[in-house]
Amino acid sequence: MSFILLTVDVEDWFQVENLRPHFPLNSWDSCKLRVEGNTHVLLNLFDRFHVLATFFVLGWIAERCPGLVKEIKIRGHEVASHGYGHQLCYELSFSELKEDLYRSKSLLEDITGQPVYGYRAPSFSITQGLLDLLKELGYRYDSSYNDFSIHSRYGKMDSIRERFLNGRLNEENSFTELPISNLKLGGKSIPWGGGGYFRLWPFWLFKLGVVQILRRREYYLLYCHPWEFDPDQPRVDGMRLDRRFRHYVNLAGTSDRMSSFLTSFRQHEFITCSRFLNL
Ligand SMILES: [Zn+2]
Repeated sequence: MSFILLTVDVEDWFQVENLRPHFPLNSWDSCKLRVEGNTHVLLNLFDRFHVLATFFVLGWIAERCPGLVKEIKIRGHEVASHGYGHQLCYELSFSELKEDLYRSKSLLEDITGQPVYGYRAPSFSITQGLLDLLKELGYRYDSSYNDFSIHSRYGKMDSIRERFLNGRLNEENSFTELPISNLKLGGKSIPWGGGGYFRLWPFWLFKLGVVQILRRREYYLLYCHPWEFDPDQPRVDGMRLDRRFRHYVNLAGTSDRMSSFLTSFRQHEFITCSRFLNL
């Protein structure tokens, strides 16, 4: 039996990287929050199937919805950090990134009264500098490495790219990288870890890919966002066509799809990242 690591990046519909030109940080407070209701859709779904997940919560959200963070913890899930302001890590200066990582961790720890061990970078914007900072600040694992999305960032990741082969990697100081799961076909990486792709592939095909991954790896790691379970979210005009498609494709079917996923793999153990790593 292998493990399934369900992970949720808790952010709202207007905080997605593709929408950043439309919603800069200073406009967020004027947007209507939908994240509480949408996260409850997921929490209720996970309760129904008796599965545990890891929630990477954005600090900006935690500040405004501390009750939601507490609820995630009370229901038995792990609370981890998605940073504070959702800026890409490689676009921040060293001190800005350090402040973002520190602020989000201490915010979440104050709310839950428990240490926060895990981190996921916005849009998988992992760098070696980020990993060094995470260790320094007392994080114990990172789950930002996605070898599919890294393809578009030539050169930026050469130093660590070779080391993460879609399996976990234990580093010095008991720090671990838990990469997003992707499907390997003919030496190529096909996006199979979640997001728009979870909603895009026909379910039978998606399931087949996950079975394939579980045959070769000790875990399958899936990521999703609360806004993906919200077909009624405001539609934003003026997005690039491919991004628009990926953002809005099959939103009305995500809940059913997640139910099918949880049913199909119920013989596997759904476990939080911390518990998987024995932290
Ligand atoms: Zn995010």
